[in-house]
Amino acid sequence: MNIKSISNSNYSKTTISHQAHMHKMAFYSPSPIKNIRGNRCACCGEEMIPYPVTANLWAKITLPISQVVKGLRLERLKEEHPNVYKVLNYFAYMYPNQSLDSILLDGSNHNMFVDSITHTVLEANDSEFPSSVAFRKAIKRETMNIFNIFESNLKNSSEVIKELKPLEKFMHNEKREIFEELESLSAIYPDKKLSELVQLPEVVEKHIRGCYDDAIEFAKKRDFHWQKADEIILKENSNLQDALKKLHSEVNAIYNDDDPQRCAYFIKKLYKGFLEKNNLEHIEKPVLEEISQLPVRGNTKNLVMAKIRNNYSDGAIVRFLTRPAMESEKRIIHVDDGGSNNLTNKVVMCRDCSDDLNKLPFEEFCAYRPEIIENTKKQIKLVEDRIIDGSIDFSFRHYPIEVAKVLDEYTNGIVKPDLAEYIAKIKEMENCEGLP
Ligand SMILES: [Zn+2]
Repeated sequence: MNIKSISNSNYSKTTISHQAHMHKMAFYSPSPIKNIRGNRCACCGEEMIPYPVTANLWAKITLPISQVVKGLRLERLKEEHPNVYKVLNYFAYMYPNQSLDSILLDGSNHNMFVDSITHTVLEANDSEFPSSVAFRKAIKRETMNIFNIFESNLKNSSEVIKELKPLEKFMHNEKREIFEELESLSAIYPDKKLSELVQLPEVVEKHIRGCYDDAIEFAKKRDFHWQKADEIILKENSNLQDALKKLHSEVNAIYNDDDPQRCAYFIKKLYKGFLEKNNLEHIEKPVLEEISQLPVRGNTKNLVMAKIRNNYSDGAIVRFLTRPAMESEKRIIHVDDGGSNNLTNKVVMCRDCSDDLNKLPFEEFCAYRPEIIENTKKQIKLVEDRIIDGSIDFSFRHYPIEVAKVLDEYTNGIVKPDLAEYIAKIKEMENCEGLP
């Protein structure tokens, strides 16, 4: 089968638009690999929240625009960005009972809003070309600032919880536990805001006590396994006492990381290096066995509640619960290694995984999150199915082939999707297309 003949396509140059990206408006994104029904993260395999769902959520939980505009919250905006203020004031007059998010679902309102921001940013940077990266960033920053004003203070917790409930299934680990707690608190205090619930004295007291208990439990477990590993090492070389102390403090530094899996991976790597350096490879197995039982700290519910209590607005709490499960495009080859912005260099991951991958090379990421190998293939298979059933435009038919090539090359064959069946199928469809 000649893959080359069907993979010559110019789609990758045109699919990614370089226009100013509004974080709220990202659901206009033309990317066909995002926003697919039933799409799952290419890393953890969990189902992700599609963009329209999030947009709809904010439209329902933010306060009506007239309430926000009437309040003092916009005084500074009025002074600094009169153009934007004028447009918001117009919206408040036209749609007093709607939220900004729902008003902007209308295309002409959206354009008017974007124009007012563009105008403001242009005035501030008149030397910049509207196509420059700095300009696009400035637009995005201004947009976020305005949305932050509208989203910091939401409707009462009972209304917010009601809208959040269908998204509970997308929340990961401690986020779901926190949602459950907020849900039961809002049943008792339905008129309080989310940010008020987390500051209730009885809630604060409970979590402070919880944090303390968690810390004691953690240290007890950690010291137990450290001591066991130390005993094995010192039996071989009793001069390593000081070196082990240093090693422990390095491990402690890693423990500050939020992600338990990443912690475990790097701690293991650290111990492997230590044993190698001291010519103790022969005891690697029993030492790593102890080390793999070290407790994971991660973000316990108590720790997170303490963080939320101190500086989170209503909007920040909702974002904290939902953002990790939102879709994010992830480059396979990092931009620092020459990775392009083309679709062919991207898979879709939940934000949790995508933040986690960060600058780590994809291949190394596969080593400590091995599930990525199967889940990436599953995502590509899903795209194939959607192209064949017509929910993704047929002009994107080359994407699975191109991205498979990048994955195969960049992971040295670790992620190698099987495309034979798909290629046969689209060849058949191409032939049908040519018929009168
Ligand atoms: Zn994920």
